[in-house]
Amino acid sequence: MTQNQLQEFRWSLEELLRDSMNKIENICGFLSQKSQSCSIEDSKGSLELDKKRLLALADLEGRMVGEIHQALNRMDRGSYGICVACKGQISLRRLKTYPTARFCTQCKKLIENGSTN
Ligand SMILES: [Zn+2]
Repeated sequence: MTQNQLQEFRWSLEELLRDSMNKIENICGFLSQKSQSCSIEDSKGSLELDKKRLLALADLEGRMVGEIHQALNRMDRGSYGICVACKGQISLRRLKTYPTARFCTQCKKLIENGSTN
């Protein structure tokens, strides 16, 4: 991976991070109010959510933030884009879809098959 490509992934990770932090902030704001539902805006449009779903979303976004931090850490250590299982390169196409990916497509498949069987 070139330095330019790495920089691009860093930018998209930082953007994702801002997105998630915004959502969490919004959710916390709504949860502290008395309203029973709220709408959350994101790149795909706005979502109308009740409290239970808000909590689930906050949980999900919280995990996302953790994954993004881990990906940024790997970038600092120079191991970003390298599969943690087989130490092979994760394809750029996969990283573009999942910038926080830790496994290459093949290992991910093996893991998923393992957990469902
Ligand atoms: Zn792998």
